[in-house]
Amino acid sequence: MNLYLLTILALLTGVFLLDSLADTLNLSHLKRDLPDEFKGVFEQEKYVASLNYQRAGVYFEFVRRTLSFLATILFIVLGGFNWADQLARDFHLNTIVTSLVFLGILSILRFLLQLPFSIYDTFVLEAKYEFNKTTPATFVVDIIKGAILGSILGGIIFSGIVYFFENSGPLAWAYSWAAFTVFQIALAYLAPAVIMPMFNKFSPLPQGPLREAIENYAKMRNFKLSGIFTMDSSKRSTKSNAFFTGFGKFRRLVLFDTLVSKHSQEELVAVLAHEIGHFERKHIIKSMALSIAVTGIVFFTFHLFMNNRELFSALKMEQLSVYASIVFVGLVYSPVLRILSILTQMLSRKYEFEADSFAVQTYGRPEILISALKKLSIDNLSHLTPHPLKVALDYSHPPILERINALRQKIRQ
Ligand SMILES: [Zn+2]
Repeated sequence: MNLYLLTILALLTGVFLLDSLADTLNLSHLKRDLPDEFKGVFEQEKYVASLNYQRAGVYFEFVRRTLSFLATILFIVLGGFNWADQLARDFHLNTIVTSLVFLGILSILRFLLQLPFSIYDTFVLEAKYEFNKTTPATFVVDIIKGAILGSILGGIIFSGIVYFFENSGPLAWAYSWAAFTVFQIALAYLAPAVIMPMFNKFSPLPQGPLREAIENYAKMRNFKLSGIFTMDSSKRSTKSNAFFTGFGKFRRLVLFDTLVSKHSQEELVAVLAHEIGHFERKHIIKSMALSIAVTGIVFFTFHLFMNNRELFSALKMEQLSVYASIVFVGLVYSPVLRILSILTQMLSRKYEFEADSFAVQTYGRPEILISALKKLSIDNLSHLTPHPLKVALDYSHPPILERINALRQKIRQ
């Protein structure tokens, strides 16, 4: 058996087993008894619902993951990539267009595989626990807009990379990396102004005590805000959140309308203080630098495995091509990046502790942030006691009880 094929199958299987193990352990970590910290705030009935919601989510994910895994393996073993390649070549178009057709076929297949799961997740699972607000019309329109946007952005990026590797010699990986980075940064600026309004309505937070409290805090920290907006997230889900978008002059604070409706003014300022903490502690810039470095490594790997005959024969391909090389390196990278995410998630959790601690140093009143965090966990029916392996793999935020403990220590200091 081809060593490349063996490696790819081993990587995909390894990550599949690791994810399944983490979910199984996480399931066994659901505690029948409510943790002390939540006594008196989490109603028993709602807590039981949260346990059921977590269980249902794990079962659903298990079925989805198993079918995707089997479909991927079958596709590889049965020569699906070669079939898609021959189909794309049958149009006899130039290389760039052929590469886009090839990628398009693969994307459509992946979309069709995921669609039933996405429908079930939104209209059965999330609906059962009263999170879902998405109407079938919104669902369909989201898919159409997402497909158009994905085709345009994905098409530009993919054809750009193919162009460089076809025409720019041994440094193609560096040119692609540079171009991709510029594109990514431009997108980060453009997204709040152009892309996000395609999916949601952003309204300036009306004048009033909440706006005043937020502006006062920002002024005290000398933190420039170009706008405070609420987003109509309630048209899709009752879950809540807050975030910043854009950079520099375009930096806006966005609060989910669901967050504003459920939290007190003080809690919202505490959440904002946490978000500003991410800026002031330079987390945003550091995360971006890390992601640029990782993409650099990925692009260099494109270079190493470009038109590698053994890789192509492992995937049953009849003809070599730049575009298929890129897709194949991506295929091998997805399990590798999944394992590397243990490191990036660890870093992200560290940043969350730092942002919490910043909020307490600048806004004071750790109790307020604790109460906001508790409300968020209750409203989103979060797992209160996740297993460490699940946390290591998937948690960009520390488990809620760890955050509360860290904040309590601040109170004692
Ligand atoms: Zn955060």
